Amino acid sequence: MLYKSRTTPRELEVYQYLNTRIKLSEIERKHLYTLRKGFEGEVQFDRLTSSIQSECLILNDLLLQQNRSTFQIDTLIIAPYTIHLFEVKNFEGDYFYDYDRLYTKIPPQSEVTNPLIQLTRSESLLRQLLQSLGCNLPIQSLIVFINPEFTLYQTPINKPFLFHSQINRFLENINTTSGKLINHHKELAEQITAQHLIDAPFFLPPSYEYDELRKGNTCENCGLFKISVAGTKCICKECGKMELSDTLIMRNVKELTKLFPDKKIDTNTIYEWLEGAIPKRTIGRSLKKHMNCNGVRQWSHYEF
Ligand SMILES: [Zn+2]
Repeated sequence: MLYKSRTTPRELEVYQYLNTRIKLSEIERKHLYTLRKGFEGEVQFDRLTSSIQSECLILNDLLLQQNRSTFQIDTLIIAPYTIHLFEVKNFEGDYFYDYDRLYTKIPPQSEVTNPLIQLTRSESLLRQLLQSLGCNLPIQSLIVFINPEFTLYQTPINKPFLFHSQINRFLENINTTSGKLINHHKELAEQITAQHLIDAPFFLPPSYEYDELRKGNTCENCGLFKISVAGTKCICKECGKMELSDTLIMRNVKELTKLFPDKKIDTNTIYEWLEGAIPKRTIGRSLKKHMNCNGVRQWSHYEF
């Protein structure tokens, strides 16, 4: 049973928004690609674990702290007799393993960080956290290589790797494990979720200013500034995606608040952000409908 779902990381959201509104540097674009690919891999694994029918609690995407050390867990499954810890990697292409190091096979061969280092650290901190919560269940940790186009040459047989071709069999094993969850498991899931940190402390966004961002409507499907507004309907001239103006307005409110958390949201702010493409009256209606109004007259602004 899914106990905690995954949300798009704020860092990825910010980079995706910026990508449509300013010119990112080559390094920033590569970073966006890595973030996106990593997230896609995790979501793919979520789809697979969601098919587990046996008694277990699935906690996706945890950011925890133990002894002042922060650690991140992609997927945690609390089963009756075991805690499964998964680190998901969406590597693609040919790699090789050599003396506990991972390298890309295609020249120029470059070393990538061995995910086992992160897994060992996470497992150790998780064990300490579980002990502090009075839980002594054994932890089984695995690196999941989710991408079917990934090959790792010279893999030692004893490493805790789960390759794409093995994932279904492994999950089937969990699925056929008998045993029942008791209150202790549920309390544990509750305590771990309560300790989840909302925002990554090490998230360093690129520097950007409001004035340098391109304003206007972007299409939610193709990301281009090619939306034409006709009454309550907004249609993308590039891909044909139709969106109601109410949805588009609220999507932009979300985007603006993610990019500028301190910015006060009112009709004029959104009108300016959308470059006047949608009438103020329509914007005001949407803000009133979905948000709470604080303040009076010209000092009024909206909050969720
Ligand atoms: Zn489009």
